[in-house]
Amino acid sequence: MTASSEDSSIADVLRDIDLENYLIPDGILVAKTLLRLPQEVQFRVRSEVRFITMTSFTGLTISLKSSRQWIILLNFDRMKQDHLSEKGIATCIAHEIAHFILGHTTGTSETERDADDLCEKWGFGREYDDYKKFQDPKKNATR
Ligand SMILES: [Zn+2]
Repeated sequence: MTASSEDSSIADVLRDIDLENYLIPDGILVAKTLLRLPQEVQFRVRSEVRFITMTSFTGLTISLKSSRQWIILLNFDRMKQDHLSEKGIATCIAHEIAHFILGHTTGTSETERDADDLCEKWGFGREYDDYKKFQDPKKNATR
């Protein structure tokens, strides 16, 4: 498989905005949009802005390599829509913290299982009962 120059520009943008490990369709849309903007706008956005998408996850943990900090995004509206109990919400939060402690920067079946294992060890529940839906995000992106 050979990457086109457009693909490598997209990869560069995703890396700059700390989304390269979450090659989700929304991230690629952000990168494609950004590449159409004036150079000076691209430069400012790529160095100063981080994009956050919260439509399809209840929680997401992101490592910002540039600042060595992490961001945990929690979608409480989605948790309420899913009728999660207080216990379920606590599990979601602990699960995301587990990703941080384990240093996970991708959401694969393996990292999700490991996060749930740690979450359970801490006395919370498991977020997932099926890990098959998690694939290597890079495989999805190059589809
Ligand atoms: Zn997870």
